[in-house]
Amino acid sequence: MKRNSKDSELRERARQVIPKGMYGHESVALLSEDYPQFFSRAEGAYLWDCDDNRYVDYMCAFGPNLLGYRHRGVEDAARAQAAMGDTMTGPSEAMVVLAEDLVSMIGHAAWAMFCKNGSDATSMAMVTARAYRDRRKILVAKGTYHGSAPWNTPNIKGITAEDRAHIIYFNYNDLDSTADAFRKADGDVAGVFATPFRHETFNDQYAPSAEYALGLRKLCDDADALLILDEVRTGFRLSRDCSWSVHGVQPDLSAWGKVLANGYPISALVGSEKARSAASSIYVTGSFWFSAVPMAAAIATLREIRTTDYLERIIANSTRLRAGIAAQAAAHDIPVRQTGPSQMPQILFDDDPDMRKGYFWAGFAVRSGVYLHPYHNMFFNAALTPDDIDNTLDITDRAFAELKRQLPSLPAQSNELLLQRLGR
Ligand code: PMP
Repeated sequence: MKRNSKDSELRERARQVIPKGMYGHESVALLSEDYPQFFSRAEGAYLWDCDDNRYVDYMCAFGPNLLGYRHRGVEDAARAQAAMGDTMTGPSEAMVVLAEDLVSMIGHAAWAMFCKNGSDATSMAMVTARAYRDRRKILVAKGTYHGSAPWNTPNIKGITAEDRAHIIYFNYNDLDSTADAFRKADGDVAGVFATPFRHETFNDQYAPSAEYALGLRKLCDDADALLILDEVRTGFRLSRDCSWSVHGVQPDLSAWGKVLANGYPISALVGSEKARSAASSIYVTGSFWFSAVPMAAAIATLREIRTTDYLERIIANSTRLRAGIAAQAAAHDIPVRQTGPSQMPQILFDDDPDMRKGYFWAGFAVRSGVYLHPYHNMFFNAALTPDDIDNTLDITDRAFAELKRQLPSLPAQSNELLLQRLGR
């Protein structure tokens, strides 16, 4: 039987009833046939597809899995709340406790508001920033991802120029370009979005300089505009506070999502005292934004973040995997670039314009039960053990060896969508 026969059947059925069969970046359309589209279950650091193939998962649901899938403490808290009620006529006590927790944990936080997805939180940040001084312009670094709303989606089909009439773009980590954007806005800057580090698909990742973070803070202060840090992808994987706290920079607003409840659907906009009155003045809500189960799960997740060494373990394991892969790449003489923080790695191959090397290597790993991604940053979770890292390294070493053997005859990429994306 084919390794992915149930998955193939589901994809075929999906094509009939779901546009394109699947949408968004969770679609595997740009990946090779090695990747399943559908999954049946997840536990700890592992994931099973619908054909019951098991994977050590280095994508963590594109971020949300921080402590391990179905983490006991989080599940217990969610189950206890579910037995009492979830979506009710208003929020439960959990909303207040959760806001108190975030305020106590995040340096700049004086208040928190809750929603469902990262895009809700970044859109709410935009509206709050505009309400702050009744200004219009929002500054965003070119090519950064802040969600799938009309003002920020990377795919402009169905989007009008008017949706972005008040967005001004600048170059990431470039103070001159950012200052230029302020000048263009001519006194009308409401807020500036900052991404903790650059994590673009298909590209090497990099951190901004401390000088940039400090300079951006100053530009915002001088203009009385709000600095918004988008922590949706990075939150609590780099630090237990906002990730620019290492540079001594606190934002006015920060957007959180993904890991907040270890996979339960909830996101948050967190703000400083300065932004409280603006946040109080806007109208935002959603039918499911106050559901108590995700809030109970978030409270339990934040407790783990405060009281355990989850982050130190993630850093130790991810550093070891990075060192192991670097040694293997050198031994096989197939250079790779491992960029970004080790706990959110991007691995790209040198001299690989159509990505055939990267796809072969990651595809080999996936077929061998290790879910690696060829063009999106990956994510570590705290359920990964040193044994998982050893097993992963065993497979990546075999993947390098097989890549070396097949390299002279490796076929060119034939995935049309991928070639389009790569501009070929
Ligand atoms: N901002 C960043 C930096 C993200 O990585 C994402 C999601 N990948 C979002 C915002 C949007 O979050 P969501 O998909 O939950 O709407």
